[in-house]
Amino acid sequence: MIIFDTPESMRDWSLTQRAAGRSVGFVPTMGALHEGHGSLMKIAVERDDITVLSIFVNPTQFAPHEDLDQYPRTWETDLAMAQEIGIDAIYAPKPATMYPEGYSTYLEVEGLSKGLCSRTRPHFFRGVATVVTKLFCAVMPHNAYFGQKDAQQCAIITRMARDLDLGVNIVECPLIREDDGLAMSSRNRYLNAAEREQGLCLSQSLFTALELLQSGERNVDAIINHVQNGMARVHIDYIELVDALTMEPVTTIDKPIVLAVAAKIGETRLIDNIKFDPAKVPAATLTTGVV
Ligand code: AMP
Repeated sequence: MIIFDTPESMRDWSLTQRAAGRSVGFVPTMGALHEGHGSLMKIAVERDDITVLSIFVNPTQFAPHEDLDQYPRTWETDLAMAQEIGIDAIYAPKPATMYPEGYSTYLEVEGLSKGLCSRTRPHFFRGVATVVTKLFCAVMPHNAYFGQKDAQQCAIITRMARDLDLGVNIVECPLIREDDGLAMSSRNRYLNAAEREQGLCLSQSLFTALELLQSGERNVDAIINHVQNGMARVHIDYIELVDALTMEPVTTIDKPIVLAVAAKIGETRLIDNIKFDPAKVPAATLTTGVV
């Protein structure tokens, strides 16, 4: 496993791989790796000839009052996990390499970046779109793998890659959960035992909402109220039912949707979501509208 820390060295290596006819897969992360990241890496290793993992805690997606300094950094165990999974190269630039003195170029994806996480983190997607573009320029991947855990991020990166003709295929990978349902996240390690227990209400509310959707409930307010009741004991940031492509709130459920939630448990902000496609409900599970 080779480690690069400059865009030039990373790009030279990737271009050599591409020239040799190998497909380059890329998994961007902020490190503190867990099995959610692991699943992305495994999918990439399986699908591409060469896989690059980036580890970079991106300052431009954190507001001054957020957890940039506390964000967990677990370099040695991250390397061991990457090696075990079969990653070929790690790209881990320094913040000063990514954003040298005088850095002043940022990317914004309009529309999709407006709702959900943007309301309480208005700086966030500008930082994500900027860093992902810079990482793509260094890694030059054919395919880049992102998790459905961050559904709005996936939609934004997919749109950005298309709008800017980046030539990178964006692959959305399933959300990986702990055995009890909690969505895996690097920030879960901030939670104490009581907070972790409380945090389970996000996934539990989403799962029961999914059951309602699968049994034919199509009233958006009823679904949202249901989740709200389930999350009554935590500080809710948002509960939204949005179009899976545009991330716009919907009033009717007649195409693929994402039911997304964010909440603060103590000082820790957690997000979770489920996807639902009304066209894919097996007829036997519908309690209404079955002929
Ligand atoms: P992060 O290091 O949190 O920026 O995440 C890097 C990538 O891993 C993003 O594409 C995330 O969506 C993805 N990811 C994080 N947690 C999970 C999870 N529980 N399941 C699947 N993908 C995840």
